[in-house]
Amino acid sequence: MPRQTRARIDLNALRGNFRLARELAPGTHSMAVVKADGYGHGLEAVAQALTQETDCLAVATLEEAQRIRQVGLSPEVVLLEGVHEPSDWRLVVEGRFQPVLHSLHQLEGVDCVPGNGAVPVWVKCNTGMNRLGLDAEGVETMVLRIRETPGLEVAGLMTHYACADDTADAMTGEQARRMRAISREFPGLPVSAANSAAHFHGNESHFDWTRPGIMLYGGTPLIGRRGPDLDLRPVMKLESRVIAVRTLAPGETVGYGATWTAEQPTRMGIVEIGYGDGYPRHAPNGTPVAVDGCRCELIGRVSMDMIAVSLEACPQAGVGSSVELWGETVSVDEVAQLSGTISYELLTAVSPRVPRLHESGEEA
Ligand SMILES: *Cc1c(COP(=O)(O)O)cnc(C)c1O
Repeated sequence: MPRQTRARIDLNALRGNFRLARELAPGTHSMAVVKADGYGHGLEAVAQALTQETDCLAVATLEEAQRIRQVGLSPEVVLLEGVHEPSDWRLVVEGRFQPVLHSLHQLEGVDCVPGNGAVPVWVKCNTGMNRLGLDAEGVETMVLRIRETPGLEVAGLMTHYACADDTADAMTGEQARRMRAISREFPGLPVSAANSAAHFHGNESHFDWTRPGIMLYGGTPLIGRRGPDLDLRPVMKLESRVIAVRTLAPGETVGYGATWTAEQPTRMGIVEIGYGDGYPRHAPNGTPVAVDGCRCELIGRVSMDMIAVSLEACPQAGVGSSVELWGETVSVDEVAQLSGTISYELLTAVSPRVPRLHESGEEA
């Protein structure tokens, strides 16, 4: 029998989360962000499901954009980091992608673009993130250069928020104000600014095109919250099974480093998943793990291929019992918080060893 460790992907929940994003930002358009293999959920299946809801997707790399075309999908595809080499322009034209330009050097090689206004490009504005983007004067130069380049047209202006994960942080409002000031110089150009987190701020931060990512996958974009608190549905269920059971006597320890010691006789199960599958090695003792639907606790260190779980909360569990590492019963945000990280990292780190099973299920 093949290993029973896998990630079930609920594509209806994905589409439901997209619709919630739309409701939170009325009057806007949305590009659904599917970079990093659809945040670990499988790019092709996620792209396919989301193109039923929107005709614009966003990715980080040319390779990701090409994978969307290779399965025969024809949405608009925005390249969030644009082009890196002059030769990338030919691939942009072939794939009809929309690069985001953050620097004049990216225009090298653009002369291979056929001169019929074919390629829409976005201009990245730096409003305080200080990662990619041009300041106000740089934006002006860039827009002029694009407008005088045959074959290019300006699709819009883009910026990115640094602190939107905290709805009380004043920086989002300040960045929105700077973006508004820049865009006043370019009447008619649409603006894209809102990541998932900004959907939970007021509409002054939404602008014309939103870019929801993590919320589509059911993870919280807001610190200190969990997806279900925000009415987001979990999309990935990471599951495995119990492959061995033993009872520890008081004083016995579990696993590498002997970091957990039984205080009383403890029935425990070994589960066939570990950090080699992307389960976080930093998950501490007590991290919830659902066995046969009841919440049990991780004990001892996470190994590469296995973890140990106390079965004291689930006496009927045994070899073959089903295990949910995250999904409906245990929120991926809860595991992330306990492990000192964010669901973005856990979801994108599920390793290629874990098969993704895509399911459309019943409409909720
Ligand atoms: C990843 C990314 C997003 C989506 O961010 P979330 O926090 O996942 O919603 C939006 N815009 C840009 C430029 C990104 O890189």
